[in-house]
Amino acid sequence: MKIGFHLKISMGFNWTLKEAHRLGCEVVQIFVKNPRSWGDKEWKKEEIDAFKTLSQSMPVYAHLSYLPNIAKTDQDKRHLDGFLKEAYLCKGLNIQHLVVHCGSREDKKKGIRIVSDSIDKVLEEYEDLTILIENSSGQGNALGSTIEELASIHNFVSHRDRLLLCLDTAHLFQAGYDIRSKRRWNEIVTNIEDRFGHNKIGLLHLNDSKSELNSRVDRHWHIGLGFIGLPPFKFIVNDKRFAHLCGVMETPKMGRMDEENMKVIRSLLSPLMSRSSS
Ligand SMILES: [Zn+2]
Repeated sequence: MKIGFHLKISMGFNWTLKEAHRLGCEVVQIFVKNPRSWGDKEWKKEEIDAFKTLSQSMPVYAHLSYLPNIAKTDQDKRHLDGFLKEAYLCKGLNIQHLVVHCGSREDKKKGIRIVSDSIDKVLEEYEDLTILIENSSGQGNALGSTIEELASIHNFVSHRDRLLLCLDTAHLFQAGYDIRSKRRWNEIVTNIEDRFGHNKIGLLHLNDSKSELNSRVDRHWHIGLGFIGLPPFKFIVNDKRFAHLCGVMETPKMGRMDEENMKVIRSLLSPLMSRSSS
């Protein structure tokens, strides 16, 4: 498994690349715009050039920013426009993978249909793009906290050949899946394979949880220091079924904790599973 972090791009892609190298990342995830603003954006030529250097040295995944709620694109035009705009920004950098949360909506049944429609609209317009739907902790009315809900969304999407799943360990735990047990982890993976088919898990988010099992509270925490604890991460990062995948940590940026989290994850990887060279 290739291991890396979500890193900021607000300092420029040269900085992101330097930081990725400093931390020993083999993959990075980024937001393609300020995640807390609806503001518009276009790439400058120097940004595209700098990004190329980054993407030539490791895989880069984009994560949809916080504002578009893709379960409510029928209620407010900004949600679909925002989603499309970020797909457009991905295309500008030649990023082929965009991770999205499934949004939230009180009427879940309706929400699931709208999420699927929104994804189809984006996939129709951006033919090189693959979207990864991420499981949620189920906080508030968040959709996608169960494998069944994610499977419904997947099944309603026409272009599902370009739809994959991003599994977040903290969100699974917060939604009530006790991944501390290896048996339970295997059941979850089998359930996913039964409902989605093989090779539909496209990315892992490796986060410990600051909130308890089934809390439905979305709080990421440092690897091994949360309620999930260290042992499960050992069988997850060494799971042979996921040897070809990337694992991205979205742990809080605090002091030197990125260095520490990387050290901890590396210590769990068996030599055969680590892609780290040099
Ligand atoms: Zn995540």
